Amino acid sequence: MNVQEAVTAARTVFNSGVTKPLDWRLQQLKAMNAMLVEHREDFTQALAADLGKHPSEAWLTEIGFLTAEIAHTIKQLPVWLKPQKVAVPLALQPARAATRLEPLGVVLVIAPWNYPVQLLLAPMIGALAAGNTVVGKPSEMAPASSALLARLVPNYLADAVTIVEGGIPETTELLEQRFDHIFYTGNGKVARIVMSAAAKHLTPLTLELGGKSPVYIDESVEMITAARRIVWGKFMNAGQTCVAPDYVLGTDAALAKLAKELPLAIEELYGTDAAHSLAYGRIINDAAFTRLTGLLEQDLQDDAGSALVSGGTTDAATRYIEPTVIHVDAHAALMQDEIFGPILPLVTVASAQEAIDFINERDKPLALYVFSDDEGVRKDFTEGTTSGALTFGVPVAHLSVPGLPFGGVGQSGMGRYHGQDSIATFSHRKAILDKPLSPDTLALIYPPFGSVKKQL
Ligand code: NAD
Repeated sequence: MNVQEAVTAARTVFNSGVTKPLDWRLQQLKAMNAMLVEHREDFTQALAADLGKHPSEAWLTEIGFLTAEIAHTIKQLPVWLKPQKVAVPLALQPARAATRLEPLGVVLVIAPWNYPVQLLLAPMIGALAAGNTVVGKPSEMAPASSALLARLVPNYLADAVTIVEGGIPETTELLEQRFDHIFYTGNGKVARIVMSAAAKHLTPLTLELGGKSPVYIDESVEMITAARRIVWGKFMNAGQTCVAPDYVLGTDAALAKLAKELPLAIEELYGTDAAHSLAYGRIINDAAFTRLTGLLEQDLQDDAGSALVSGGTTDAATRYIEPTVIHVDAHAALMQDEIFGPILPLVTVASAQEAIDFINERDKPLALYVFSDDEGVRKDFTEGTTSGALTFGVPVAHLSVPGLPFGGVGQSGMGRYHGQDSIATFSHRKAILDKPLSPDTLALIYPPFGSVKKQL
């Protein structure tokens, strides 16, 4: 199916009205669930082919993540869709007011390669639950996952979802069409292209972007567990996670303690040589590998003022980069843009307040992770910074709380989804007012305002 046919087909289904009943929506969610469960092995293999993902990680962060989101949505949807009563001011009474959610129409979902199954299907859960039809564009950078989705989705979600495979030309053609909502996950550069295209049709959009998500750690915490959790969040999917801890801020003393524990935690999770660990992924392509190793080389030059804590080994043939920890300063090459790979810089600050200032001088992060048992410090970060999410004691895990919205702020994105926030994103909240004609209480406010004039 070409691009125009795909969009026309999705619109025809939506216009038929078939998507509106709750039953249809639940059926689509159950069908998506069946696809994931019946083809769990195929998805696992595709994710291993694209990113070297371990089956357990594929389940935790993609397949099982989606089945959990579907289960939560199926359970809550009837409640979420109930019209909400709204109070009517005395002057307008008697009358009834309410809001009612209605679907937007045809939604375009454009997904990236790093969680190629999760990030295409998770927005669709919300879009379908809200009664829309969907055109989905998987990332061409994860070809095995893209091909599998293109093969399976028509068997399970024939009327509801159309998959269009391809790269820039296909996406460009898609963006010329009129949609009722565009949901884009990826980088800020392409987000600008998507937003300009959306502007032509005045299409609302959600942008799920990235950026540098900082960690702040102080000496008050139990360092062994903190290091283990930072390693887990950072090196999952070989660091190619939008909410991966990008770098760590701390005082000299805190970073010295952490730097001792990080290599031990890396060994605990990935063995003495991560190259032989089935749990450790690979870099998506040669361009990304060259970018990452280039940054590392630049910061390891004699005059760069950086110091390797652990790791640093790379292998171009297998696109392997060892989990790497490095002390740098704020001017380092690694500190300029989102790293999106398995290199963790440690940056010294004098105090928690300096860390807060450091964060506030930069783009608003997608996530901010604070490790501190000091209530004052926790309060200062909560009140003194802004980020898509703020977590204490654990990175990344906020994604698996279905009741928490997921999304960025400022340069890390606009809009939010997951759970009920997905329903809000993919619905129009229509205002309804119903006032009986009799008695006509409005008689008091109709012109010609005779009595008012006299008073003046
Ligand atoms: P990508 O290269 O796969 O691109 C994303 C999508 O944009 C793909 O479907 C691709 O075909 C399309 N695209 C690429 N160039 C285009 C162009 N010129 N015109 C139109 N469409 C185009 O993925 P990526 O952008 O490299 O993904 C990594 C980025 O995404 C990182 O910055 C990461 O932080 C961010 N990310 C954010 C989230 C989130 O949920 N907030 C999740 C994952 C990744």
